[in-house]
Amino acid sequence: MKEDFDVVVIGSGPAGYVAAIRAAQLGLKTACIDKRESVGGTCLNVGCIPSKTLLHASESYFKMKKEGKSLGILSDALSFDWDLMQERKGKVIQGLNEGVLGLFKKNKVTRIVGEASFESPQLLKVGDKSISSRFFIIATGSEPTPLPFLPFDEEKVLSSTGALSIKKIPKRLAVIGAGVIGVELGSVFQRLGSQVTFIEFMDRICPQFDPALSNSLQESLTKQGMEFWLSTKVTSAALIPDLELSVSLKDGTSKKLQADAVLVAVGRKPLTRGLNLDKIGISINPQGLISVDGNFKTSQPHILAIGDVIDGPMLAHKASEEGVAAAELCAGLTPSIQYLTIPNVIYTHPEVASVGFTENELTQRNIPFSSGTYPFKGNSRARCTGEDEGFIKVLVDKKTDKVLGVHMIGAHSSELIAEATLSLGQKSEEVAHLCHAHPTLAESFKEALLSIHKKAIHK
Ligand SMILES: Cc1cc2nc3c(=O)[nH]c(=O)nc-3n(C[C@H](O)[C@H](O)[C@H](O)COP(=O)(O)OP(=O)(O)OC[C@H]3O[C@@H](n4cnc5c(N)ncnc54)[C@H](O)[C@@H]3O)c2cc1C
Repeated sequence: MKEDFDVVVIGSGPAGYVAAIRAAQLGLKTACIDKRESVGGTCLNVGCIPSKTLLHASESYFKMKKEGKSLGILSDALSFDWDLMQERKGKVIQGLNEGVLGLFKKNKVTRIVGEASFESPQLLKVGDKSISSRFFIIATGSEPTPLPFLPFDEEKVLSSTGALSIKKIPKRLAVIGAGVIGVELGSVFQRLGSQVTFIEFMDRICPQFDPALSNSLQESLTKQGMEFWLSTKVTSAALIPDLELSVSLKDGTSKKLQADAVLVAVGRKPLTRGLNLDKIGISINPQGLISVDGNFKTSQPHILAIGDVIDGPMLAHKASEEGVAAAELCAGLTPSIQYLTIPNVIYTHPEVASVGFTENELTQRNIPFSSGTYPFKGNSRARCTGEDEGFIKVLVDKKTDKVLGVHMIGAHSSELIAEATLSLGQKSEEVAHLCHAHPTLAESFKEALLSIHKKAIHK
């Protein structure tokens, strides 16, 4: 059976499903293929959504347990049910899956379930179907990277996927890698009773963030009971009779860590297995990423690649922006993406969020900058809710006063970063004079901007 389309998207993650909807909106006959039974890719099934659902449930429990009394809420018999948390997670995923399917139907995107593989640059095979198209968009995403001596068994040795669906909360959880996924999932388990120990090769956690944010986050998580072994490398592991990791420290000494389970969160690798890219002459770089030009074109110009499978931060919103742009390119439009305005968030408590340049990046580029900070302790809304940990830091160009970067740690930073994103490239003094509702956390952003001009009122 042969089918013909204008655009065929391989992968229905946030890159692929968004590309498919946009292409269909632009009047192109579009199909979206995924080997998963459910749409939404890593993000919806085993990534952003299940992790944020469990972060919310575990945080609600932890807060009531630790802070209920101070809020005047007494609940001596507070407990949690992991199975019910899992059930709710399943329902949230299912609801969003159905939402994407509804959008496919509304926009007339043909959905195909099965593993896609190129027969030739013009022809794709999915089971017994042959599919031809004017354009193909590869959006096959990424998968967790295992350690060579510690393959995932999803019982004792967990990937993020296994950790999100683990049957029982482990008493002692080792987490290899204190990056974003590690600290988010580590937080879930610590709140629900695990003793969590991170082993991190670098000398600070979440190293892509401003050092002040990394250090402050580590302090908060340590107060919550998590332990961090930094500048430490796991050298070997034994699984029998019990899980034991051998680690080597910066000073050359070694020690051992016993745990009931280990989450390996050392990064993700692009997923191109099975696509037959070598057969059709599409090149892959040494990191396994598909090489593309500025218009997402591979070495076959009618085959584009987007999302986690190409270079750039492995983030759902970056993938979706590329999905829209790739679809518009197929329709003959000329879209552009402002990569510098892509925010980066950690959904721990407190949350961390960042957009634009960091201090280190500005120093490396010899761009003179001024900075303004404001602590949430000075914010009345933060005092009402008891969430007054953290601060906002704004970096502006010394010559032009344009906002170059915003970095924050504190409750709801994932939401506050949207205003910061809008302010990039604007004059900080002008943004500072916008009226903000009171009492809101967003007033802290205004105060941080005002402090650059020595005009902060509450500082
Ligand atoms: C635990 C966790 C938490 C995360 N949290 C966040 C977050 O809070 N915010 C954020 O921005 N990002 C987060 N991410 C990252 C985010 O999930 C990814 O960046 C995003 O899903 C990438 O989208 P994508 O469409 O490129 O690929 P994916 O979402 O990986 O989708 C690719 C799809 O392609 C399919 N596929 C692969 N090969 C084939 C083939 N040959 N044929 C057919 N189908 C195929 C796969 O089945 C998959 O469904 C998280 C990731 C994890 C693991």
